[in-house]
Amino acid sequence: MEIGTLHTVATAEGISELDRPGHEIAELSAHLDAATARLLDLIREFDARGGWNNGFRSCAHWLSWRVGIDMGAARERVRVARALGALPRLADALARGELSYTKVRALTRVATPETEERLLAVGRAGTACHVERIVRGWRRVDVLAESRETARLHKSRAVHVYQDEDGMVVIRGRLTLDVGAVLMQALAAARETLYQRARGTDAGGIPRDVPAETSSMEQQQADALALLAESALHQSLDPGAPGERHQVVVHVDAPVLADPEAPGQSVLEGGTHVSAETSRRLACDANRVVMRHDTDGRTVEVGARTRTIPPALRRALHHRDRGCRFPGCDVSFGQGHHIRHWAQGGPTTLSNLAMLCRRHHRAVHEEGYQVEREPDGELRFRRPDGRPLPAVPPSPAIPDDPVPALRARNEAAGLHPHARTAMPGWLGERLDVGWAIDVLHPLAVGHQFPSQQEEETHVT
Ligand SMILES: [Zn+2]
Ligand SMILES: [Zn+2]
Repeated sequence: MEIGTLHTVATAEGISELDRPGHEIAELSAHLDAATARLLDLIREFDARGGWNNGFRSCAHWLSWRVGIDMGAARERVRVARALGALPRLADALARGELSYTKVRALTRVATPETEERLLAVGRAGTACHVERIVRGWRRVDVLAESRETARLHKSRAVHVYQDEDGMVVIRGRLTLDVGAVLMQALAAARETLYQRARGTDAGGIPRDVPAETSSMEQQQADALALLAESALHQSLDPGAPGERHQVVVHVDAPVLADPEAPGQSVLEGGTHVSAETSRRLACDANRVVMRHDTDGRTVEVGARTRTIPPALRRALHHRDRGCRFPGCDVSFGQGHHIRHWAQGGPTTLSNLAMLCRRHHRAVHEEGYQVEREPDGELRFRRPDGRPLPAVPPSPAIPDDPVPALRARNEAAGLHPHARTAMPGWLGERLDVGWAIDVLHPLAVGHQFPSQQEEETHVT
């Protein structure tokens, strides 16, 4: 039989034989999209309730581990799931199988509750390729509008400092978000230092001549700002050598490192107390200088600075572990964790080391997660309650033919997608992206787009 004649052999239902599988593909795809909507609902809820937050860095990391999809796809699902929470029309169209996940994914990159309706119409009318091109154009208008807004805000930055009638100095200002964040962080750090200083004085039993007053948050902020200004002048506004700038110095009594329950102190340079477990984590992989103190606390001997894990061993560790070993983590760099801490006599050898990222190093030291090396050399992780954390979870049971189950579930939910549910309204016209955005985008100011011809040449 000639292939060409297949198209013309119509069956009793009026569907040709070759059309039938096509029909089935379209129908099943619509069912899958409807099921994807349900899946995204579940992910959104799981994410919001923090169901993934038992040792995983994020909902996407959990999803990648549990479901076995790559991190890019996992992040995208979580993003789309979150976005659809505020976009009921798009969510609904996906749930009815009217818009494919591909289109919804593209549209959620730009849609807001205000523009959702218009973008839904774009999704219904165009092919996936049209939708992708419109979204790309839309983003360009968004980015331009955003940079205009950022420039406007940056221009309005100001700090006014003037003296009031009663002699007090008044400060009033506007800072951009990032500078504001730095300032707030610095104020918080200065408040903490002042708090620790005050507590240290109390603990020292030095009698105060003035009764301690509890100061308000605003007063504490004022004191913190004073400390910031003093420190800035003291440091001649020089942030120091790059290598030393972000160094954290911890002073730990040796018995505390060996046994967190032991009496002794672990304090940050500057006096902030840290928990014994935190000091153990920081010491796990660090530069260390051993100092010996006499009974009065005077330093009598200072050893040479050494790395806890020598460079050659660290390279071997990187080569063996290739990143964090915590189940489901894909961070490709990390710190060397001593499975048995060196302060407790654990050797600094490959078999006693495991690479962990910063997040999971904290999980193991401060959050009660446990890691051991089995006799066969494999690592075994346990949750704080002692239950093992499997490296790869078992797959759920799936019926032999999942399609009828999927169909039945959608029908039970009142959804009846069919082969034409997701058909675009496009009749084959050429798409003029520039014109479409000018008409649709609320912030489009016209002529932000190359003409049709230019765009076509860029695309090809
Ligand atoms: Zn460690
Ligand atoms: Zn990790």
